[in-house]
Amino acid sequence: MQSLDVLRRSPTADYVATVLSSVALTPTIKAIRLRLDRDEFSFLPGQSVWPKFERDGRKFSKIYSIASSPSSCPDIELCVSRVGWSSAVVQDLAIGQALPLRGPYGLMTLSELPQRPRVYIAEGSGIAPLKSQIDWLHECDYRHPIWLVQANPETPEQLPYQPYWQRLQQTWSAFHYREAISQCPETVLASLRLNLAEVDVVICAIGDRSDQLQETAYALGAKPEQLRSEKFIAF
Ligand SMILES: Cc1cc2nc3c(=O)[nH]c(=O)nc-3n(C[C@H](O)[C@H](O)[C@H](O)COP(=O)(O)OP(=O)(O)OC[C@H]3O[C@@H](n4cnc5c(N)ncnc54)[C@H](O)[C@@H]3O)c2cc1C
Repeated sequence: MQSLDVLRRSPTADYVATVLSSVALTPTIKAIRLRLDRDEFSFLPGQSVWPKFERDGRKFSKIYSIASSPSSCPDIELCVSRVGWSSAVVQDLAIGQALPLRGPYGLMTLSELPQRPRVYIAEGSGIAPLKSQIDWLHECDYRHPIWLVQANPETPEQLPYQPYWQRLQQTWSAFHYREAISQCPETVLASLRLNLAEVDVVICAIGDRSDQLQETAYALGAKPEQLRSEKFIAF
């Protein structure tokens, strides 16, 4: 298990993962837990892996964020929304099945404990890299306030990891969970009445929604140097 006070990432390399579990979080999103074949794998919260696929004799790869804390290595969890061919393959993997992948990759990371309060805004499976960061901060007993504003355009009333966040809010006083179910996340964010110039903002959503949420955060005072965002798009 990786030490909590020293975060490090291993060099990018090829691994073979084995499926440990595959659980539905919403009607379209699943959590897939994998065990990598070597203990040396380590990553920074927010990073991703590229599973490798073969279709009609052609090899290709798609990127998925790691949704678990680095402390779980060599186990990692993916949080995958079913949209097209690759995501269906990942969702339909059987327990015990092997999945070659390469990683870690990605720059929307934490490498040390941040010094400011944080606001996380997630839509759909965009919760994945944010969950990795929040889980790690929780394990470190992070004391600055953290808000998570979560929405899911695919099934607006069912949010991935919703019961988990609700429980976490009850046991970790720094953590504040805001479900954007009957209101859009922009409205929920504004209703927090935070001075966003004084917090770090982290956004992850699908396609243009990431840019739109970023614009809202700027309009509410977020500073560009304190805002990080990731956009899930299909390559
Ligand atoms: C840095 C990065 C990290 C990513 N991490 C994740 C992740 O943790 N979980 C995840 O489910 N996807 C993630 N994705 C998206 C993933 O790489 C694939 O693009 C996605 O699974 C679609 O591939 P597909 O072959 O199933 O469908 P395709 O046929 O390639 O795409 C179908 C359509 O789905 C849209 N789309 C892409 N991703 C999503 C999504 N997540 N939810 C809804 N619509 C989508 C595309 O814009 C496209 O219009 C990430 C993308 C990037 C760039």
